Amino acid sequence: MSRPPLREKPCAFCGRPFSDRKRWNGRDQWDDVKYCSRGCRAKAAAARRRS
Ligand SMILES: [Zn+2]
Repeated sequence: MSRPPLREKPCAFCGRPFSDRKRWNGRDQWDDVKYCSRGCRAKAAAARRRS
């Protein structure tokens, strides 16, 4: 009856630490989550395209 620990890691774009929240749970996608928000994800993708 133990809850999984709250996972946390820094956003790959803004560096701000974010934790495993409702938006990520349900699946094992946490390992694929690199950004704290969709905004950061979109910006990182845009920055990638630029270079
Ligand atoms: Zn971010």
